[in-house]
Amino acid sequence: MNKRPIYLDYAATTPVDPRVAELVMFYMVEEFGNASSHTHEYGLKALKAVNQAKEQVASVVECKSDEVLFTSGATESNNMAILGLTDYGNNTGKKHIISTQIEHKSVLEPLKEMEKRGFQVTLLPPNEKGWVEPETLRKALKPDTLLISVMHVNNEIGIIQPIDEICEVLKDSEAFFHTDAAQGFGKDLEPLKNKRIDMISVSGHKIFAPKGIGALILRRRKIKKPPLQPLVFGGQQQGRLRSGTLPTQLIAGLGLASELSVKEYLQRKEACLKHKQELFDALELFKPQIVGDTQRQIFNICGFLLPTIRSEAFILAVKDRIAISNGSACNSRDNLRNHVLEAMNIDDKGNFLRISFFVEGDSKIINLTKSYFSNLKALL
Ligand code: PMP
Repeated sequence: MNKRPIYLDYAATTPVDPRVAELVMFYMVEEFGNASSHTHEYGLKALKAVNQAKEQVASVVECKSDEVLFTSGATESNNMAILGLTDYGNNTGKKHIISTQIEHKSVLEPLKEMEKRGFQVTLLPPNEKGWVEPETLRKALKPDTLLISVMHVNNEIGIIQPIDEICEVLKDSEAFFHTDAAQGFGKDLEPLKNKRIDMISVSGHKIFAPKGIGALILRRRKIKKPPLQPLVFGGQQQGRLRSGTLPTQLIAGLGLASELSVKEYLQRKEACLKHKQELFDALELFKPQIVGDTQRQIFNICGFLLPTIRSEAFILAVKDRIAISNGSACNSRDNLRNHVLEAMNIDDKGNFLRISFFVEGDSKIINLTKSYFSNLKALL
């Protein structure tokens, strides 16, 4: 195990927390019932687990448990939040959508689809510090704006977007506000509690739950939830909005992982901040230049440029010892230019690196990670 490279790509995915894995196993092997089978104990126990997980997810963002919809991950949640408003937009004549140039592809691609469906999309640029100014958003609002979708934490550079300020700008607007919180849910806790946010996309595998599970929070404004249409039809589970047998084991896993993310928040944050410092000391030799506003960077992601070396060469040189990336795993297949750096007017000469870590509460893991950092120092 220890011979494997040090994993510093937690923004791409995290391992499953052993406590979560144990629970997942329990709901696969022991309590395997179908939560929609209400005629016997097996089904009822599964339903109970699903309801408990809803409470656990809801409490992270302080919403009601019936405002949690389970999905396969943030990609699906983002698609639902955007494409799911098609009929409502057509019926009301609200056909303008605002988002940003630095969103994840799972927001940008459904937005392209909305354009094909006759909607008008405005993509706001970030400032040179990597965040979208609320004032830029205010200027882009129109009477027929249907939806505003601004991510919570950018996955490439880790910059936290000004969610509270955006909510303030939107306080008198009827438009729906969605945030892709794949990187921030369970890590940057306060902003997502803002009641002005109508929809929040959550991904399990960024917080030590398994891959293939996520959620879309659909908050009621007054008494109404956002009027989404389903993208998948079938057995009418989850209020007909997302049919398909509920994966109880994954849902229970997401529930526990969510609860732990709050319980262990401070411990994790402190450990990550310490690691960030140690890492930076270790990398000093290469004179890393952090991309974006350090005051607004989430504690577990760091995007930087290495002025003297190309990132591919660096990744190759350290690959047996350290697993890092030069950006989103969702872009790496087609080796596209980094659209986030481009939007920030940074001349991407192929020297961008992203390091991300998110230690578990376990002190053994923290110590191991620390010793990895000293190894890194020796290596350089
Ligand atoms: N949005 C952001 C900001 C992400 O970082 C990711 C994961 N790379 C996603 C969406 C997609 O999440 P999932 O893997 O759960 O579909």
